Amino acid sequence: NSHGLCTNEVGTSALNQEEVKKSIGKLKDPGGILQRKRKQVVQKPLDKFRMKYLWVTNLCSQTWCEQQMVYEFEFPGVEKQEKTEAMNAGASIHLARELEVHDVVSVSTQTREDSWAIKFLNVLAMIPVLQSGGHVREFPVFRELDGIFVVGVIDELGYSSKGELELRELKTRTTPSLPRSSQKSSHTFQHLQLRLDQVLGVQVKEHIERAGLTVSTFGDLLELTCLNLAFSELPVIDCIKLEYCYQADGTLLGCETVTFDEKNVMEHLKFCLSYWKGQREVRGVDIEEAWKCSHCSFSNVCEWRTKKSEDALVKCHTKKAK
Ligand code: SF4
Repeated sequence: NSHGLCTNEVGTSALNQEEVKKSIGKLKDPGGILQRKRKQVVQKPLDKFRMKYLWVTNLCSQTWCEQQMVYEFEFPGVEKQEKTEAMNAGASIHLARELEVHDVVSVSTQTREDSWAIKFLNVLAMIPVLQSGGHVREFPVFRELDGIFVVGVIDELGYSSKGELELRELKTRTTPSLPRSSQKSSHTFQHLQLRLDQVLGVQVKEHIERAGLTVSTFGDLLELTCLNLAFSELPVIDCIKLEYCYQADGTLLGCETVTFDEKNVMEHLKFCLSYWKGQREVRGVDIEEAWKCSHCSFSNVCEWRTKKSEDALVKCHTKKAK
């Protein structure tokens, strides 16, 4: 960058004003070189928000309202108190559910490789449970999607009465009612820049040994996890079930089985990821979902909302004029 700037300054001083104007004129060419250059320097949101990978929860927030998600990144302090309380209450219910099937052991980690080693170790421990027909909770998942690494956790995996592998997702609700229909739509080490030769921390190694495994580096554990997943012969997920639960007392409000439409889901994900790759501008909600704006902390400052209101006014005036 500094090289480019220096060359420009020397070039400008060597030209007289008229030549400068001409040069600028030439630059305003029909091919739009300036515009293209400007686009090129726009930082990708993934880099702007210093994210090496995305969490599934990022994609969920984005599905609710992309503009709101961006505001939350830009102004983290504006998050509503109730939202934080609701998230804490939801996390407690998730932990209580997890404790029903697993013992939670605290392991101290020293490096990012240590933290990822724990995730892989959890996967290794859950594979035999699933192979024997049991169910597991908080199953870590990760994969590359359209060039971006995405990480998440499946609430529960188990088998249906028909013997199909079922993904169960727990949704906690602040109100004791089911949501309306509109609310329902909502390569490893390279991406994460992890060091394969990183020796794992003492506590992590001890935890691994207690599981009957012998590995010393992060790369060894990654290889072991990949081999286990490849040869586990676990069935593919056949169905998805949503369980709605009342946050105040944990009572079950209802269940819903969802058809997994892979083509639509992948199209939607590609669209979401195109924002993170800087391939399009941020979007707010469409007019049919404008009700979300009334629950939004950014409604008074939202540029998307203002523009949509102005567009609607212009449309209205044009109609009247006709
Ligand atoms: Fe999204 Fe509406 Fe909030 Fe704007 S006001 S961020 S469009 S929910």
